[in-house]
Formats: sequence, structure tokens, C-alpha cells
Amino acid sequence: MNDKTAPINSLSSLIPHPSSLPDSSLIPHPSSFPHSSFIPRPLSFLDSHAHLDLEDFDPDRPAVIARARQSGVAAVICPGISAGSSGAAVQLAEAEPGVYAAVGIQPNYCAQAAPGDWERVAALVEHPRVVAIGETGLDRHWDYTSFAVQQDFFDRHLRLAQARNLPVIIHCREAEADVIAMLREAARRGRLSGVLHAFSGDRTFAGECLALGLCISFAGAVTYTNKKFGPLRDAARAIPEDRLLIETDSPYLVPHPLRGRHQRNEPALLVLTAQCLAELRGVGLEQLAAQTTANARRVFSLR
Ligand SMILES: [Zn+2]
Repeated sequence: MNDKTAPINSLSSLIPHPSSLPDSSLIPHPSSFPHSSFIPRPLSFLDSHAHLDLEDFDPDRPAVIARARQSGVAAVICPGISAGSSGAAVQLAEAEPGVYAAVGIQPNYCAQAAPGDWERVAALVEHPRVVAIGETGLDRHWDYTSFAVQQDFFDRHLRLAQARNLPVIIHCREAEADVIAMLREAARRGRLSGVLHAFSGDRTFAGECLALGLCISFAGAVTYTNKKFGPLRDAARAIPEDRLLIETDSPYLVPHPLRGRHQRNEPALLVLTAQCLAELRGVGLEQLAAQTTANARRVFSLR
């Protein structure tokens, strides 16, 4: 990503130095990880979804990005949640090597969209650092935007992505059947590519998304040990290796064991989710890093 990124030769160097993070005592010691013995080649991760433009990162954004690089996160996709956020994501991608933007209006924010906001988002697609459309999708958990308006915006995003031959970043919360219906309709219209981000469904829903040619991205929820996340962990085991992505969804979804202790997630903590996924799938961390990074580079057409 950047010439100054030091090679990563051991897992211990993947963990941000404790003194560089807010709750320094809470970062697990590298020796407590199963694969800490010897990693022969440098590891490189790609965080496929982090909201680095949000105000949560205003106090220390450069330090957050530096910690990501120190932790082996060589690239980050920053998706917009509104017209303003999409513009900020593009500016960040212009300024920071290894940061790429997606542009869109997140379903919970569609009700707040002012006249002209959609056109502003659509105009940003021209920018060379824009690699995807999103995030978009459907959400029945929150009620900030009426469902009909969410469906209207999801349809616009899907059509824009297909018209520009760009991948789409899809948010789905408690709306699996509705999302699949619209994705199938889009797939009948033409080529569809993209990713179900922060996947929260089960093996059946994952299979329906895979059948449409989409990838599945896992965030911190896959590390949660509560029984209700069992179906999610089961889905994580079943995804074909060439369709698997990882993300932090920063500043949300702090992974276990920092959940409830850290207020804010950040890309440097991606390794905790990667470690959990590697264990669930019975592969080494090195293989998981290489495969998920290659998949993301393919989906987002990154060099
Ligand atoms: Zn998001």
C-alpha cells in the first residue's frame, strides 16, 4: 500500500503495540493466540468495510490509519452512508494510500436524504478512487426510514452499480427475504457483483447470495460466543474460500474479547476477526489473510 509499510514477520507485530491503543491492558498478548509461533511470510489484510469518515474518528484519524498499517491492514474500503459521508469517503481515499471509497446512502439514512443528494452520490461514481456502490440494502431492525423508501433507494443503487459495472456493498438486517427478492430481480436484468457486508444470516441465506455470484463478508459478530451467533458461525464455516471477505465495520462491532471494553472498533483490530475465522474454518491465519485479500482485490478491482 505504501512504501513505508514495514514487512510483518510475526503475529506479534500484527497486534498494535499496546501503548498505541486507548485501553492498552485489554489487547490480548500475542502468545495467547494459537498461531503465534512462526509465520513465514508477511501477512497482509484488507478491511472491506470501515467507516473511517465518521466523526468517531475525528480526534485521531491519522493515528487510526497508522495503526491499521502497522497491523498489516494494507487496504481499507470506506463506504458512504449519506451524500455527505460519501463525499468525505472520497476525500479520504484521495488523501490516504490504501484507502478506497464506496458511495451510497445507507438504508437507515435514506429518510434524511435531501433533494439532490442521490444525484450527488451518483456524480461521485466518476471518481477514480470509487470502487463500489454502497452501502445500500434493507433494514427491518430499525425504523428510521420507511421500508418502501428503503426499497426505492436499494433499487437505485443496484441499477447504478449495474450501469457502471461496479460491485455493490449490501447491508441486510432482519430483511433476508426482501433483499434476496430484489437481488434476484437485479440479476435478471443484468450482471450483478458485490458483497453482503457484516453478514448476519445463516447458511441458507448465504447459499442464496452465493448462488447470485455474491461474496460474503464477516465482521466482529462472528467472534461473539453467545449461542444466538451459532448459525452465523456455522455459515462462516461453509463459505467457499474464493467468496470470503473480512471487515471490521468500524467503528461498530468490536470483536471479542474487546467487545464491551473498547467503545470503538478500528481496522487494526481486524486480526481478531481473521483469527477467529481461520480457527472456525480450520486454516492458518496466513492462508486466510492471503485468500480474503485476493478475493477483495478481485471484487473491487484493486491492483
Ligand atoms: Zn457499514
